[in-house]
Amino acid sequence: MLRVAVIGSGPSGVYTAQSLVAQDAVPDVEVYVLDRLPCPYGLVRYGVAPDHEKIKSLQNNLRTVLEHPRVHFLGNVDVGAPGLGPAELREIFHAVVYCVGAATDRRLGIPGEELPGSRSATDFVSWYSAHPDAAADRFPLTARSAVVVGVGNVAVDVARVLARGAAELAATDVPQAALGAFGSSRVRDVWMVGRRGPSQAKFTTKELRELGALPGAEVVVRPEELTLDPAYADPAALPATNRRNVEVLRTWAERARAGSGGGPNDGRGPAPGADGGRGAAAGSGNGHGPSGSGGVPPRRIHLRFFLRPVEVLGDAASGVRGVRFERTVPDGRGGVTGTGRYEDIPAQLVLRSVGYRGTPQAGLPFDAASGTVPHEEGRVLRDGTPSPGEYVAGWIKRGPTGVIGTNRPCAKQTAASLLADAEALVRRTLPDDPVAALRRAGRRPVRWPGWLGIEAAEAALGRELGRTTVKIPDWEGLLAAARTAG
Ligand code: NAP
Repeated sequence: MLRVAVIGSGPSGVYTAQSLVAQDAVPDVEVYVLDRLPCPYGLVRYGVAPDHEKIKSLQNNLRTVLEHPRVHFLGNVDVGAPGLGPAELREIFHAVVYCVGAATDRRLGIPGEELPGSRSATDFVSWYSAHPDAAADRFPLTARSAVVVGVGNVAVDVARVLARGAAELAATDVPQAALGAFGSSRVRDVWMVGRRGPSQAKFTTKELRELGALPGAEVVVRPEELTLDPAYADPAALPATNRRNVEVLRTWAERARAGSGGGPNDGRGPAPGADGGRGAAAGSGNGHGPSGSGGVPPRRIHLRFFLRPVEVLGDAASGVRGVRFERTVPDGRGGVTGTGRYEDIPAQLVLRSVGYRGTPQAGLPFDAASGTVPHEEGRVLRDGTPSPGEYVAGWIKRGPTGVIGTNRPCAKQTAASLLADAEALVRRTLPDDPVAALRRAGRRPVRWPGWLGIEAAEAALGRELGRTTVKIPDWEGLLAAARTAG
């Protein structure tokens, strides 16, 4: 019997477990999927936006794996904290696969980044996703203008969620306190700002298009910022996603030129930006006309390009009042150079959405430059040599890129390496009961029935509040629900 611990129950962890049990070469594999949280599914539960029901429904596929007879979910097991590092894990399991993701956000490294009101997009996502570590966080949404720095899919998620009405979010599982904040949100303008051009934006086309289809919100693009990008003239030369992105932006710009939409200063209310109203609204596609739904003025999502953040403006007493950007131009090599011209976008909320970053894992080697654990085909390298029984998969292996499905081949490669090593790994004698060993290490695992108890409690909370499932946002509530179920 080969006993494996997979650390992390997000997509990379679950796909690793699946690859390990769904093969014939080593039939006797028992996989224990450990997670720090009492709940499984990682970023599918705590990162995928609540209004992306289809992606969220991937949980059903992951569930099938975690309910496999030779896969055992053990939540509330903090690996890396005292008593349960790599050395202790190796005493309990023949092999350990770290699928711990990229736990923190990248920094901008500019003045003002820490001012009140300047937050990471990942904090915002954690808050509206009811991550228990974010329970003490508050996003009162009293800002009228919000700047989102970065043009990746996380930026699109947070811009879209900010632009949605509370009625739309009420149909999702957002925690009740967050729903209340969205209900009284004063946000009217959301600025999503890229330092490079539209053809280099990291978002995917489906996500971009969705911005143009929001009820009660309109997208504002600036034709002149699009045409500044050399690739805009010849999208055929671009990779497929970038080409399609450019095509969507082009359609919006053309619609705007044809006068189907108003600009941000078109008399429908003050525009908080310093843009003098040169933008052009386009692509709401909702057929509601300029007033949005129910006579409420539409929210505006401004897509801006070639602006590099140089300072978050404001002071410690009154918080953020805007972001200063330097206008950039293409450098001809895929990058940009500064022009020495600056533009301030007023804002009372700044969300930095410039990517995730892996964090060092206690007792494991770490490459600080890439934020990953050094590896060879998934085998952890210690001083350049594969370390017996230690593996990585997912973002901690390859960095925070790709969509959920990217984790499948990544996990498969790691599982193949592990299985190729199996013969040598199983020679070690292990304690009979790994759960008892974890308890001796001071952990109180939440097993699968405990998780089902959390699910049931969230469904009950939803019924009580007249909504669908509503997530429990704090550790106490989650653990109480898990313990009630056993
Ligand atoms: P990302 O895709 O890497 O995008 C990061 C953005 O931040 C880029 O626009 C980048 O610009 C910009 N940026 C980086 N450093 C900057 C700086 N110092 N100043 C200004 N801008 C800066 O990261 P992400 O949005 O966090 O997404 C992470 C991964 O999760 C991606 O693979 C994404 O596709 C995935 N994801 C997918 C979905 C979905 O499928 N619906 C949803 C969410 C996340 P440059 O390009 O110029 O560096």
